[in-house]
Amino acid sequence: MILTIGLITGMIGQTTSLDRRAVEELKWMDKAGCIGLDTEHFFAGDETKVYDNKPLLQRICSNCDVLKECQDYSLHYAVQGWWGNTSEKQRRDKRQKLNITPIAIVSERVYE
Ligand code: SF4
Repeated sequence: MILTIGLITGMIGQTTSLDRRAVEELKWMDKAGCIGLDTEHFFAGDETKVYDNKPLLQRICSNCDVLKECQDYSLHYAVQGWWGNTSEKQRRDKRQKLNITPIAIVSERVYE
């Protein structure tokens, strides 16, 4: 079996190995308000760091049932793009204030 965590809308576009307990801890993602949305909305252009769809993203995240869980997760894990109604820069600044070192997301597959 391949454990694929296509986090939320598949935003990170990675296959991540996690043990079953960790998968349980990510159950909140089942309630993500962005499930099924085009992942391209959640990334800014590399050079500009401007999110073309920021108002749309803010509206989606503001109405999400798991906003708090998403914010906590994206603060503690080095995810990219728009998560928990925050940009990467906003999360970087907040981590610095809170002295949080994000955990790297390792892209790999697990076969059982
Ligand atoms: S807070 Fe935003 S990015 Fe996070 S799960 Fe909800 S809709 Fe998706």
